[in-house]
Amino acid sequence: SENRTPLMAGNWKMNLDHQQAISTVQKLAWTLKDAKHDFAAVEVAVLPPFTDLRSVQTLVDADKLDLRYGAQDLSQHESGAYTGEISGAMLAKLGCTYVAVGHSERRQHHDESDELVAAKVAAALTNELKPILCVGEGLDVRKEGNQVSYTLAQVDAALAGLTAEQVADVVIAYEPVWAIGTGEVATPQDAQEVCGAIRGRLAELYDDAVAAGVRVLYGGSVKSGNVASIMAQPDVDGALVGGASLDPEEFAKIVRFQS
Ligand code: PEP
Repeated sequence: SENRTPLMAGNWKMNLDHQQAISTVQKLAWTLKDAKHDFAAVEVAVLPPFTDLRSVQTLVDADKLDLRYGAQDLSQHESGAYTGEISGAMLAKLGCTYVAVGHSERRQHHDESDELVAAKVAAALTNELKPILCVGEGLDVRKEGNQVSYTLAQVDAALAGLTAEQVADVVIAYEPVWAIGTGEVATPQDAQEVCGAIRGRLAELYDDAVAAGVRVLYGGSVKSGNVASIMAQPDVDGALVGGASLDPEEFAKIVRFQS
């Protein structure tokens, strides 16, 4: 993947309270330290629930961990009368580097539209958070063979109006919905097809240099046993890992896919 630093990001979803978060991050950090993991070579991030973030921040700061962290969602609004919402500024204040935007579970269960996803990407960037923009087709679209056009339309909508400088801070995660939490992993060729098409679209929307710099991750039932073949694809720059990221030893193996 040229000179893009791979990113392994763990999406905990609605799992692990703040005490479990501390022990999980400690175990992950110890395991990676034991393995002499080079964090500059493969970046590692966790995306815990909002209620865990302050605890994770405290631990990362106290132990000077090289680990990045972020949230699973944010509000498109800056502040005000939006009961229950969390702003980008609040996440930035907690030391978040990343925030997932447009995860398929938010699109499905919270009716997040392409327009809302675009507004959330913009809100993340305004607050100097790096959005991990999640895109990908469902099984119906895949069966019709329309995965590339469907996914690129989501990319177009989410990036609409962003400058080249802004898009350089965006990470795109291709997550075929039929492969999320199902144990059904896309083949390395399936992952490469769409990740490569996303990079091609970035070259059309911006230029080759921008396209070459943006990290495109694959997500969907990534495990220690299948990560290497997916990472071997030229346009896959990392993984967004759900279920397997809850086990710090398994997640460390995914991070250490090269060893
Ligand atoms: C995800 O939630 O982004 C994901 C890829 O989940 P899983 O790894 O469990 O399929």
